[in-house]
Amino acid sequence: MRPCRVPNPSARPLLPILLLLAASAGSATAAALRVPWHPASRWATQPPLHPAFAADGGAALRRLIQQLPKAELHLHIEGTLEVDLMFKLAARNGDFLKLFSDVAVLQTEEDFYELAAAYLERAAAGNVTHAELHFAPQGHTVRGVPLEAVHRGLSRAIAESPVDASLILSFERHLSESEAAVAFSEAQPYMAAVSAVGLAGSEVGNPPGNFADLVAAMAAARLPITLCPLSNLRLQVYAGELEARVREVLASGIAVTINSDDPAYFGSYIDGNYEWVARVAGLGPEQLAQLAAASFEASFLPKERKAEHVASVWAALNGWRLEEREAAELRGVEEGARRRWRHAVPRWLRPAAVWLTQRTDAPLAA
Ligand SMILES: [Zn+2]
Repeated sequence: MRPCRVPNPSARPLLPILLLLAASAGSATAAALRVPWHPASRWATQPPLHPAFAADGGAALRRLIQQLPKAELHLHIEGTLEVDLMFKLAARNGDFLKLFSDVAVLQTEEDFYELAAAYLERAAAGNVTHAELHFAPQGHTVRGVPLEAVHRGLSRAIAESPVDASLILSFERHLSESEAAVAFSEAQPYMAAVSAVGLAGSEVGNPPGNFADLVAAMAAARLPITLCPLSNLRLQVYAGELEARVREVLASGIAVTINSDDPAYFGSYIDGNYEWVARVAGLGPEQLAQLAAASFEASFLPKERKAEHVASVWAALNGWRLEEREAAELRGVEEGARRRWRHAVPRWLRPAAVWLTQRTDAPLAA
């Protein structure tokens, strides 16, 4: 767990200052990324799925996660750069070998547009209806990319997307305060599109453990904390058993939201993070809907928009329940029909009848 942001809606329209104590894309060290890992390998030791999801091995859980509208509040847009787009941009911008490594491939307005458009398309498909995209201008201006190109590309993708998205300007923690001040003044012409300012980057020398008092104060004030479980798991930022810690945090009443951080690096977008948490904590449908609702409550959206999104979460939960009930009833009807059919055929003829119906794909094959 890590305290990543301190939203303060009452401070609007002043920019809320976020404390991003998280590792950003840039700080995902090569060593951490080489650790052989897959979240599924850790599920084996986890508690059983909640009974509401137990019938079909997790398919109903994934259907619910897909159908719940969700807000993504902790995502670095540079950390959504998938390998195929990296290839494409490296080829387009020339000097393939020099560029094909990281965000260096992002050079023009069009590149930033494609980066954000690809993410937002994926987000929309996963029913992310609101997203607050962190971007780190210092990592681009230092390479000679004009801030205007970054801003115009990201803004155009946001304007065209059905996802209700905004930008969070992140300063790099490994750079100085005065450099952040320079970046902030350079960003002034573009602040209309920015909903918050934050800090991101390496926490070397400043581990989250140093902020225990801050976390306690946030919990007491019910300030939301963004949780990026698969990022934490992959980067091994928590020394103990993360699963146990996540269960503890959820049970403590701290307002948490589930997010994906740098999904292209950690192999999982928001749906994978919800699924992991649901599995390790044995969450049921109602609790998952509460997490989705909390993601809107914790966002920088205005109050009325939050209420609309939260209402859509509960409507989606009801829709999912109806569909699951209908599917269960249908399974019951089919099972009854199968049973009647088996009894209608003489015992000695059943193997032949089963063989025949299997061959012909008859719907009631036993
Ligand atoms: Zn982060």
